[in-house]
Amino acid sequence: MAADSTAGSHKIRQEVERLRAELALHNHRYYVLDEPLVSDAEYDQLFRRLVDLEAAYPALHDPASPTQKVGAPPLAAFTQVRHSVPMLSLANVASRAEMQEFHHRVQRALETTQDIEYVAEPKIDGVAVELVYENGKLAVGSTRGDGVTGEDVTANLKTVRSIPLTLLPQPAHPIPRRLEVRGEVFLPKVSFRSLNDTRAEAGEPLFANPRNATAGSLKQLDSSITAGRPLDFFCYGIGQIEGDTFASYWDLRQALIGWGVKAVPLGRVCPTVEEVFAVCDDLEARRDSLDYDIDGVVVKVNSFALQAQLGQISRSPRWATAYKFPAIQATTTVLDIVPQVGRIGTLTPVAELAPVHIGGVTVKSASLHNMDEIRRKDIRIGDTVIVERAGDVIPYVVKIIPEKRTGRERSFTMPTACPVCNAQVVREAGEAAYRCTGLTCPAQLKESLKFFAARGSMDIDGLGEKIIDQLVDKNLVRDPGDLYLLTAEQLAALDRLGEKSAHNLTDALERSKTTTLPRLIAALGIRHVGEATARQLAEHFGDLDRIMRAGEEALQDVSDIGPEVARSLAAFFDQEHNRAVIKKLLDAGVHFPQVETKPAGSLHGQIFVLTGTLASLTRPEAKQRLEALGAKVTSSVSKKTAYVVAGTDPGSKRDKAEKLGIPILNEAELLEKLSGQ
Ligand code: NAD
Repeated sequence: MAADSTAGSHKIRQEVERLRAELALHNHRYYVLDEPLVSDAEYDQLFRRLVDLEAAYPALHDPASPTQKVGAPPLAAFTQVRHSVPMLSLANVASRAEMQEFHHRVQRALETTQDIEYVAEPKIDGVAVELVYENGKLAVGSTRGDGVTGEDVTANLKTVRSIPLTLLPQPAHPIPRRLEVRGEVFLPKVSFRSLNDTRAEAGEPLFANPRNATAGSLKQLDSSITAGRPLDFFCYGIGQIEGDTFASYWDLRQALIGWGVKAVPLGRVCPTVEEVFAVCDDLEARRDSLDYDIDGVVVKVNSFALQAQLGQISRSPRWATAYKFPAIQATTTVLDIVPQVGRIGTLTPVAELAPVHIGGVTVKSASLHNMDEIRRKDIRIGDTVIVERAGDVIPYVVKIIPEKRTGRERSFTMPTACPVCNAQVVREAGEAAYRCTGLTCPAQLKESLKFFAARGSMDIDGLGEKIIDQLVDKNLVRDPGDLYLLTAEQLAALDRLGEKSAHNLTDALERSKTTTLPRLIAALGIRHVGEATARQLAEHFGDLDRIMRAGEEALQDVSDIGPEVARSLAAFFDQEHNRAVIKKLLDAGVHFPQVETKPAGSLHGQIFVLTGTLASLTRPEAKQRLEALGAKVTSSVSKKTAYVVAGTDPGSKRDKAEKLGIPILNEAELLEKLSGQ
């Protein structure tokens, strides 16, 4: 590219300005609102074009350009945290040739022609955070924000189970006085799917991908919402460390693991750039089978001395780059939109697509989630659309291409009768979902069985969709309990299942009988009850019988179970049919070890409401400490409230407490209760 005529450079300036404005808008949508308008691949294309133009026309340099900045400034709703060492982004490369260029740049900067030792590891597609440990205790956790200042999300990060609250001692490395751990918080793929399923049913807007869901979960002002989302964490580096030194990233990584910090897995030390390519190929091939989203491979110079020599530019270090996997998008047409009946009768519109190859897989359909999504994206039968497999196996429609409309496209409407069992389809007030009301709908049964048998549920290896379809169609299975009554002969008589596979399947069924109580509860597919809630239930009640008899009110004593979930659970266990299925499962030999109930704390069962600002601890911290003692913290005052804690500037909750005669505690009295006096 070269600057030629004045008219040409005017055009270039205009394009640069347009790109800057467009990228600024996308940054706001992505980093602040967590509602991107375009896919990452589209964003990356715009970004690269701007980088190229700015490199070719240095006169257009602007320190405020999106190419010079990291993320977005922190949200005002959170306390700000200044990072002692800026948290940078990464430059990226999109091909082997560009990776070679990166390698040569590194060699030139280090004035060597020798091989460079790199570490190549997965680029986790989550949200960057920093965890500050003081003398081994987690003191502050924050987001990256604009790289200099982030948001204080300590209380939310404390709900992430894999983030240690205290570092583990290890003989080789004493606990540092201060350690700033950096890494990525992410939502595993399965949790993302079930979160979006629940949101689709509740008519809430869906998260575009696990990264958005993670960002939305981390930026909750109420940490109990974050606690309900099974977030996970991998560390990929540090900011400051006081009290220890390391020669290389890989040595540091080993020490972090020793302190109990979960490091990014699957990374390797690569003595040559060829080995870097091998890791990139390997990870790209394994991408779909991983439990979490990765969007590339991060390649870092291993030696810290060389890293220091290479330094950084405004937005990213010179010693690392991200090899981004090619976009897995394609353009195709919507041949039809067909409703599919789910496990609880929800009708999900699915787009049947003209088959298209995306990332080595032929894609023929994509879920459109619900009517609201169809309307929001204005998808019609006959439309030309961009489809993406976002590192996830379920493809989705990114957007339509309006310029390709011919006028012959047709809008989709939900049927009034179930396409499988013909029962009436209803849409309950306040819900986005349409539901089949058929009690014996075979489509619902098939979906329940698939869910029951899946990995993470009862884990019945080999019981796939095709077999389930036959079992239901041949009337061999009418509920999950029937699965355990199947004989090897019955299975061997099914299509595609020889004697050997039938035998394997009976073995798998037998093995699956040994399970855990939370898994069994989750496998039942009760509405709003996922793995995390099932675990809470098991820990609170200790056995299945007590959960089944608990009733709505007692269920709400479990932390994180609100009225809606309690209602759904109680309604499920109220039904004779469901109780019979559970009995059938237990009679068939499904068993699980006794769960140790959490010992009842000193505030067991007491309901607290917090209002106003507390001086010595944040509200999420107060909530967490109350819950640790067995109390339940709710947001509204009722006759059942035991205490209202009023800090400075309390809201109307204090007035309501006075009206109802509920005792009001000040901060000192709360601290007294928390200290167990
Ligand atoms: P990035 O995600 O491309 O890469 C940098 C980040 O990778 C680091 O900050 C770190 O948090 C993370 N990371 C993950 N694994 C890592 C590992 N093993 N080692 C080191 N770091 C690791 O950069 P970014 O600044 O966070 O975001 C820019 C990207 O976000 C864009 O490339 C684009 O894909 C996306 N984006 C999309 C939109 C949109 O509208 N769709 C808008 C803005 C940004």
